[in-house]
Amino acid sequence: MARTKIVAGNWKMYTLPAEAQALAGAVASFTGGSLSPEVVVCPPFTSLVAAIAAVKSSAVKVGGQNMYWEDEGAFTGEVSGKMLLTLGCSHVILGHSERRQYFFETDFSVNSKLKKALSLGMTPIVCVGETLDQREANQTEQVVRTQIEGCYDGLTAEQAERTVVAYEPVWAIGTGKTASPAQAEEVHSFIRGLLRKKFGNTAEGIRILYGGSVKPDNARELFSQLNIDGGLVGGASLKAESFNKIIEAAR
Ligand code: PEP
Repeated sequence: MARTKIVAGNWKMYTLPAEAQALAGAVASFTGGSLSPEVVVCPPFTSLVAAIAAVKSSAVKVGGQNMYWEDEGAFTGEVSGKMLLTLGCSHVILGHSERRQYFFETDFSVNSKLKKALSLGMTPIVCVGETLDQREANQTEQVVRTQIEGCYDGLTAEQAERTVVAYEPVWAIGTGKTASPAQAEEVHSFIRGLLRKKFGNTAEGIRILYGGSVKPDNARELFSQLNIDGGLVGGASLKAESFNKIIEAAR
């Protein structure tokens, strides 16, 4: 099944609004109206408005980096999916390893957020991946299985099809160490197998992105693997020059 590739930029806690406007504007100029690959930028909350304005006349989409599952309420410091959607976000990253590591995000909370994002019609990008210790202890498959089962618990095949998975080995995030295309493909194929068991043939249509030190010089080979449907890009998404080259590699 043909799957449209996605190149998504996770800007983490970088960019003030003016910087976000310039960066998103440069990505929008490069992308224009092209829908393949699907291009998404995910600025911090305070730069969303600036980025959304900057991509307005292009095909570039904007996403949040996290959300809460209630629409509103006494949840100090949280931002709801409904708030993101109303602002103009179509996507949201859920369960990024930095959120799991520093903010105690669990598969259970990701599952609640995922269901809410889907009910709002948003596209969640669900992050999974093992740490270096877990890889060295040969636990990669077990870790990823637990994460997929927990995050996707209770979803129908129709809902699952509207999600995007990002396989991000934690040891490759921001470290300059990239999983080799073969290493990444092995896990992507395993993830597709898990999704197939849960959701049948629908799994063939679910995009699985690779994340972890994707750069212009390794993107093409990674993206040419059978089960790698694009990338979730951190560091290299903060410069239009490198991010645009990664978009080019996905074309
Ligand atoms: C990320 O933050 O999701 C990521 C993959 O970061 P980097 O590309 O910098 O490794």
